[in-house]
Amino acid sequence: MNTNPQIPIVLSPGLLLVLSAPSGAGKTTLARMIEKEFPEAEFSISYTTRAPRGAEQNGKDYHFVDTLTFQQMIDRNEFVEWAEVHGNFYGSSKRVIDHSYRPGGIAVFDIDVQGGTSIKRKYPDAVCIFILPPSMDELERRLRSRGTDTDDVIRRRMLAARAECEKGAQSYDYLVINDRLDDAFQQLRSIVISERSRRGRVDTTALRLQQP
Ligand code: ADP
Ligand code: 5GP
Repeated sequence: MNTNPQIPIVLSPGLLLVLSAPSGAGKTTLARMIEKEFPEAEFSISYTTRAPRGAEQNGKDYHFVDTLTFQQMIDRNEFVEWAEVHGNFYGSSKRVIDHSYRPGGIAVFDIDVQGGTSIKRKYPDAVCIFILPPSMDELERRLRSRGTDTDDVIRRRMLAARAECEKGAQSYDYLVINDRLDDAFQQLRSIVISERSRRGRVDTTALRLQQP
């Protein structure tokens, strides 16, 4: 995805990873597996004005804040991006970005396509991965089996899901279909490993290649 071809891409030594998916596709499940596989990965915990759902914990799943606090954070320029999704505000703090400037560091943003697109605009070397469900019927089944949303919320999420899949499938760098969980995880893991070997991210200074 190259949202701004004018900006020459200078790679950070670490990785800035954006994971997006329609709600229910398995992004949280896969993100937790990535967290376990790569302990050096730092996950951005978004700020949101929506109420906690099920067993969600403040500071772990999200930072749950009121609209005034969210607005003050916008005013202080503390977000790398923020957006309104399903009638609530969501924003990603700038702090986690620093992690992608450390050799071997991985900063992971688990956000929607509009958020991923604005991060890519600001950081063109961000690696954007879109997770797709195997079918829309299966997506609805997973949303229902999660048991955390009302019928009305599920209907709204299913309406948004098709548009989100279309946008992600058109613009993201990688598409991973989460049919069998283990296969999807192996694909994600391979992307991280391959991207770490991209020219510009590998430290070759010890080889003294530039010396006369
Ligand atoms: P998201 O974070 O994208 O909204 P979740 O990770 O919460 O989605 O997954 C939604 C539901 O689907 C959860 O109950 C999860 O256990 C289940 N799930 C995730 N991946 C798979 C898969 N490959 N096959 C079957 N069920 C899955
Ligand atoms: P949920 O309410 O299901 O946790 O999230 C709803 C949507 O908001 C999901 O698509 C999720 O990716 C997105 N989202 C979560 N955090 C952020 C964020 O910080 N910024 C943006 N733009 N979207 C987010």
